[in-house]
Amino acid sequence: MQLAPPAEFGFSFHDYARVLRAYKENGYAVTGFGEYIRNPQPKHVVLRHDLDNSIDQALRVARIDAQEGCASSIFVRVHARGYNLMSLPALAALREMEDMGHEVGLHLEGGINEVLGGNNNDWADRQRTVFEAALNRSLIGFSSHEPARMGGIEFADNLLERWSDTVTHHAYEDRFTTPTMKYLSDSSGNWREGHFGLWVGKEPLMQVLTHPFWWFDKVPAENY
Ligand SMILES: [Zn+2]
Repeated sequence: MQLAPPAEFGFSFHDYARVLRAYKENGYAVTGFGEYIRNPQPKHVVLRHDLDNSIDQALRVARIDAQEGCASSIFVRVHARGYNLMSLPALAALREMEDMGHEVGLHLEGGINEVLGGNNNDWADRQRTVFEAALNRSLIGFSSHEPARMGGIEFADNLLERWSDTVTHHAYEDRFTTPTMKYLSDSSGNWREGHFGLWVGKEPLMQVLTHPFWWFDKVPAENY
C-alpha cells in the first residue's frame, strides 16, 4: 500500500511565492485592478485579497507579492470586529501596502441595515466615508463581501454607477469574471477548480482571489 503523495500545492507562503514566480516566468503581468485597466497585458493575472478578519496577515501576503515583483488589489472592511482602519498599526500597514505599489480598496458589506435600519445604499455611503477618511484619498475600487447579502452583483453594478465620480471598478464586473476572465477563489480554504498553481499558462486572463487568513508560514495556527 502506498501513502498518498502530498498535494502539489498547499497554502504555505512558500507555495504561494512559488506560484507567483511561475506566473511571472510564464509571461504574465500580475497586478491589481487599476493597473489592469490602465495597462492590460495579453497574459494578465489580476490578484485580489479580501481582508475579512485581519490586516496583519494581509501585510505578510502583500510583502510576498512585492518581493515577487507582483502588485495586488487589497480590499479592507470598515465594519470588521477584528481590525480598525484608524488604529495606528492599521494606518501604518495600509501605507506600507500602498508604498509597495498595491491598490487598497473597500471590501463592501451589507446586512447592517437588517439590524439598525436604513438601507444598503446609505450604509455603503457611510462605509465609503470611513474608508476615505482612513486612506485620506478618494475610493477607486471595491469588492463585495458576501454579495448575496446586499443585492448581489446588480447592487454592486448600480453602486458603481452612482459612485462613478471617483470609483472606476468593482471586482465582480463582467470584464473581471468568467467567461471574460477566468475567476479563481480560495473561499473557505477550498479552490473549487483547483489551486491557482495548477492554472499557470492555461488561461491568458485571470482574476485570482485569496483570503490571507488561509495562508501561513509554517502552520495554519499562526492565524487564529
Ligand atoms: Zn469577504
